[in-house]
This record gives sequence, C-alpha cells and structure tokens, in this order.
Amino acid sequence: MKMSKLFVQTLREFPSDAEVISHKMLARAGYIRKLTSGVYNFLPLMWRVLKKVENIIREEMDAAGAQELLMPFVQPKELWEESGRWEAYGKELMRLKDRHDRVMCLGPTHEEVITAIARDGLKSYKQMPVNLYQIQSKFRDEVRPRYGLLRGREFIMKDAYSFDLDEAGLDREYRNMARAYKRIFDRCGLDTKMVQSDSGAIGGSVSHEFMVITDTDAGENDVFYCENCDYSANSNHAVSNLLPAVVDGKEYFAQTKILDTPDTHSIEELSKFLNIPSTLILKSLVYIVDKKPVIALIRADKAVEETKLMNAAGGIEIRIASSAEIAELMANHGFDAVPGFIGPKGMEDVQIIADETVKDMKNFVVGINETDKHLVGANLDDLGIKELKYADIRLVERGELCPQCGKPLLVTRGIEVGNIFKLGTKYSKPMNAVYTDVDGKTKPYVMGCYGIGVTRTAAAAVEAHYDEHGIKWPIAIAPYHVTIVPVNIFDELQMKVANELYEKLQKAGVEVVLDDRDERAGVKFKDADLIGFPYRITVGKTINEGLVEFKTRETGEIAKITPEEAAEKIIEIVKNIK
Ligand code: ATP
Ligand code: MG
Repeated sequence: MKMSKLFVQTLREFPSDAEVISHKMLARAGYIRKLTSGVYNFLPLMWRVLKKVENIIREEMDAAGAQELLMPFVQPKELWEESGRWEAYGKELMRLKDRHDRVMCLGPTHEEVITAIARDGLKSYKQMPVNLYQIQSKFRDEVRPRYGLLRGREFIMKDAYSFDLDEAGLDREYRNMARAYKRIFDRCGLDTKMVQSDSGAIGGSVSHEFMVITDTDAGENDVFYCENCDYSANSNHAVSNLLPAVVDGKEYFAQTKILDTPDTHSIEELSKFLNIPSTLILKSLVYIVDKKPVIALIRADKAVEETKLMNAAGGIEIRIASSAEIAELMANHGFDAVPGFIGPKGMEDVQIIADETVKDMKNFVVGINETDKHLVGANLDDLGIKELKYADIRLVERGELCPQCGKPLLVTRGIEVGNIFKLGTKYSKPMNAVYTDVDGKTKPYVMGCYGIGVTRTAAAAVEAHYDEHGIKWPIAIAPYHVTIVPVNIFDELQMKVANELYEKLQKAGVEVVLDDRDERAGVKFKDADLIGFPYRITVGKTINEGLVEFKTRETGEIAKITPEEAAEKIIEIVKNIK
C-alpha cells in the first residue's frame, strides 16, 4: 500500500470527548470516527486490526473444536419471552417494531437464538457435545457509552455457546475454552488475568472474566488478587476473610436507649460525636432495585458492593436512592428523618438485606428514622424487623485476607476483554430445549457461553501498548507490519531502493506501506509513530554508503543495516508471528 493512497487522515489533536488513551489514539491516528454516541466507523486501518483479532479468535476456536455460524442481528420478542428475558434484560435491550407492528430487538447477545437452533436440530446424545460460535456486531443501549471502543453501543463480539449432556461435559468444555482464551489473548499480545466474576443478567452459576490489567481509567473493574496463591476475583464477586472487629475492650453501651445525636449526618460525624469506633455503628443505606426501595444494613466501617446487593435482592438494576426518594420512603412510613438517621425500624414492607458483618454486632448504634437521634446499645431484636435476609453484600478492600490462603489481598484495575459462563440449564429448561439421552429420557442441554469483545480487545491492546508518540501495536494485530520511509522522494537512489524493498517485501507476504508522500521526513516519522507500525525502514542519505535505518517501534531501537539485511529481518519476523 502506498501511503499517498491509504485512506487515513491523522488529526493534530485528540478529539475533545476522548477520555482514555485508546480512544484518543485511535481517533487521532485515523482508525475510527464516531457516527453517533457509542457508534463508530471502523476505517480501513481499524478494519485490518479487527480482522486480525477475529482471525486469531477463529483459528483458536476452530482448533478447540468449535464451529462457526452466523445468526441474525434482529431477533423477535417472542423468543425472549420464552426465556423470560424480554423484561429482565432492561434498558440495554434496543426494542423496535417492524411495519406490521411486530416487536423485535437488536441482538445484544444470542442465548435465545442459539437455544432455539439447538432445539430444532440437536435431538440426540449422539450429536453432542457441540460448541457453536459467531463473530458479529451487537447492539446494547448502554447507560453510559464511553471510552471509545471500550464501551460502545454497537460493537463486535465473538459469542460461543456449548451444549453438553451433563455438568461433567460442561466442566470439560469450560476448561477447554479457558485454555483457548489464554492462547487468543497471548497471540493478540495481551497479558490477561482470569478472574472469578458475577454472572449478571446472563445468569448461571460460575463465570470467569479475562482482564487486561491496567492502572488507567480505562480499567472499569477492580480486581482483587492474591500474590501468594491463585485467587483473583472481580470486586463484584470478591470475598475475603475479615478479622473480627476489634473493639478496644471498653463497654460502650450496656443499656439500650435513644440518644440525641444532633447534626451527625455521616458515620464519621456520628462516631466522633459519640466517641466510638465506626465498627459499633450499623449503617443503613437505601437503594432502588428495579424501581423498589431496598434497605441494606452493614457494619459502618465497610462499604456495600452494589452488584452483590442487587443479586441478593433478586433484581437487575440498582442505584442508590436520591434524597427525594428517601424522603418519600420516610413519608410513606410516617417518618420524616433525613439521611444520616435512617434505619430499618418500622419498614415492614421494604426488603431489608443485612451483610454478614451485621451478624456479630452487639450493643450497636443505629438510626431509628428520627432526625438528630440514634438508638444506642441496640441489638437486632430491638428493631422489630420481620424478615431479615443475610447475604454477603460487602465490598472487599485491599489488605483484607485472601479467602483461599489468608494472606492480604491486593487490588488493581482491569479491562474485561472476554468471559466464560457456565449457564447450566438456565435457557434450555424454560425454552424446553431437550435431547434424548442414552436411556431414552429427554433432558435439557447443559450449556455454557463464552464471549470476547473483538473491538474492545483491539482497544485494550492500545491501552497496553503505547507511548506519548502513539500506538505500539503488537505485530500480530498491527494493521501493517512495516512502513518504508524514503526521506526525500525526489532523490533517485532513495526512491529506487525504497521501491525495490517495497516490491520484495510485498512478494514475501509482508504487509508493507511505502510512504511516498511529498512531506518532510519529520511529518512522516510522526505519522508512522502515531499509527503504530511495529517497524520502520528509513531510506535516507546513508543509502549512499549502502545503509538504511531499521527502527523497532516497541523499543525505539535503531539499527543501520543494508536494505537486504532489513528485508531479511522483517521477513523473518513476519514468518515467526504466531
Ligand atoms: P461489561 O461488564 O463490561 O458490560 P458484559 O459482562 O456485559 O461486559 P458480556 O455480555 O459477557 O459482557 O459480553 C462479552 C464481551 O463483550 C465482554 O467481555 C466485552 O469484551 C464485550 N463487551 C460487552 N459490552 C461491550 C460494550 N458495550 N462495548 C464493547 N465491548 C463490549
Ligand atoms: Mg454489560
């Protein structure tokens, strides 16, 4: 490809709405252009990268025994009603009507469709196990599309679905996919961590995510991990062992009574006012889960993990209640307390969920829905809670102890590029998708599902490989392997050598760009660095001594070698791409 013909326009500046490196770089280097919120054009350079990521995925999925198919992007409502997800999927599901008023949706994922395909054709144990996958655009009306390709509304995903006779078969396939994923991300030049995670709206019991570890904002997940053993988990799923809350041996409140606690709106203010450790306070928080209020109780030195709470409440959407909603909740129960003094007392019809930390609390301090007052020396029995559900709803913190080995946990941020789920019979049962087993009985398939964000993986590769000058693509997914830059296109010898090299490399199957533009060398070098060609061969004045410059983008290292050596070197590198 000649640079003068390549359809790419690099920008002088980063786009103003770009917050993270991959968005900034991909937009500025001319890979992507936004069409509308969360929806991007993949320009020719980007498309080359995406096809490479897709091909790596294809090769490894095929090698792992899966078969590729392609399902429709538009799906009928009826299918989603069969699984019970038409309502449950929430607002991310983009619903629409056709001209006959038939209700459809844009596919955010394909469990329903694939289960229907299996139900039609997969009738006997003899046909199993089978794993089917596709690579396709998905649409999710994300609440907050952001970070460019990392969280778009339309994005490309590889989704695979496995069908097994039993749990043991699913276990085998799950491990098979975990191994394939490791190879896929390795080949894409990404170092990933496989972490335990929450199963979310897709459901199922066991799931793992593949995280690219990053210390930047682009990592939307907190990953807790142990250096001593292999424990690692997304914060929405992480658990830890807590040391018992050490109270300093003093008896604080032997008697149960109501105390005036004026202006103590925060835990800090309250513990200061009463001169007590925060471990002695029972914190009550109001959340809205699927439009209904839920009260969460937790020992006040700890924080609530919203996904855990949402799962415990059996919902699919959660947010903290606004002050207006809290006021309304109070008014509905005959109280008028302001936040800071809220408690579970008198909230009969509200779901109340207590964290495990609450179990051991004695003679504590708690809000009783009266402004400027707290009950001290309280115990759960004093609060008249009719139905109290205990669950682990606690956010783990750095330094708490590993649930496997007891050493302190560390935390880092990660970008989820893929995940694997054990679905079990979550879809096959309600959709009545069954096979006939060896014993002649019909049984629901035991399913798994396995996703990889293709566009997100490419963006994550930029997050992991860049410097202040631009992208440093891992060679296996770079749009081109090398660029040849003649410093002066009017110098006959330089152009002759550059052209010869260009033809030789093309013949050898190297993906090469010749920068034949009439631009200053500095401009060409800047563009080469920004676009992120893994190698650059510069043909300048030194060609008079028979030498070119061979630059490695990753390290910045420059070697002065002959054009023949440069050609051999890059051909060898390309041959060794895995
Ligand atoms: P997240 O928690 O980041 O929203 P998810 O759990 O919704 O992800 P899945 O439904 O399991 O993701 O989708 C499989 C893969 O698709 C994810 O691992 C991720 O790589 C990718 N993906 C999901 N949502 C998006 C998005 N909005 N933009 C780009 N890629 C996405
Ligand atoms: Mg999501």
